[in-house]
Amino acid sequence: MIIVMADNATEQEVEGVIKKIEAEGFKAHLSRGVEKTIIGIIGDERRLREAALEVLPGVEQVIPILHPYKAASRSFRAERTIVRVGDGVEIGGARVHVMAGPCAVESREQLLTAAEQVSAAGATILRGGAFKPRTSPYSFQGLGEEGLKILAEARERFGLKIVTEVMDIRTLPIVAEYADIVQLGTRNMQNFDLLKELGRINKPVLLKRGLSATIEEWLMAAEYILSGGNFDVILCERGIRSFETYTRNTLDLSAVPIVKHLSHLPVVVDPSHGIGRWKFVAPMCRAAIAAGADGLLVEVHPNPAEALCDGAQSLTPENFAAMMEDLRRIAAVLGRQL
Ligand code: PEP
Ligand code: MN
Repeated sequence: MIIVMADNATEQEVEGVIKKIEAEGFKAHLSRGVEKTIIGIIGDERRLREAALEVLPGVEQVIPILHPYKAASRSFRAERTIVRVGDGVEIGGARVHVMAGPCAVESREQLLTAAEQVSAAGATILRGGAFKPRTSPYSFQGLGEEGLKILAEARERFGLKIVTEVMDIRTLPIVAEYADIVQLGTRNMQNFDLLKELGRINKPVLLKRGLSATIEEWLMAAEYILSGGNFDVILCERGIRSFETYTRNTLDLSAVPIVKHLSHLPVVVDPSHGIGRWKFVAPMCRAAIAAGADGLLVEVHPNPAEALCDGAQSLTPENFAAMMEDLRRIAAVLGRQL
């Protein structure tokens, strides 16, 4: 449910509404737009007596939200969410941010080389997994905390932000300590306990779409994080399972405008995992920007042939730099920077 305040509502009236919502056992979320002040109510609204709110001074309208997700819904927030990643990086604004780097942190040398290369080409955020969700228990599982330390060193050296995946509640405190953005991978999109914990941290979350998740299920996963109090959620389309076998997954670019229509949250696209073949990553990055993506997540490896994870979908640094040139031109045509 959202409450639209009258244009001339006073501060006391806004506070009065918030107090009333809290007294009823709900969380209130205040959003001041240029035109309207909106108060969103977080919780099961069937327990709220709508009439009691409509008569409060300063209230113009009480609107029930019909989607099962509320805080993630566009009606809940008048303006688009801009996720601030430390200082200087804003996701969801005019600038399209590119998060790039290897699938996994393999060694200090590999990661620092990748960081230097992607930073020189214009990436602002470095990716790299320290805890890796692998299909086979015999595959490389990541360097764990050592990988996080290497990422932190790369951040210092190259002035990049870092995004890295969390797999487990037990390692969330340490991942959140090092990361600028905590990534929740596709396989954990419906790990509800982990989602609840992510709602309590003070770091942005990159929420990947589940392997077979509908858009609604994906937004419900975001709802878990938002309703816990963490509004810094970036959605990431990374391909879904389909009958097609030529590609690793089917990249659902239609999700970008749809999610932007349904939600105020920023959306980034990961064509590397969506397609699984490096040759097709650049065209889909171009398409993602054209579709309105707020950022990209791209796997880049100094030497893809030697990668311990996802080499087939990783760009060489040269191909990445060439792609960034094209993306800059496309972003400019659409009134965005890169
Ligand atoms: C990754 O980004 O390396 C990753 C494992 O992604 P996903 O969860 O989308 O498979
Ligand atoms: Mn990967």
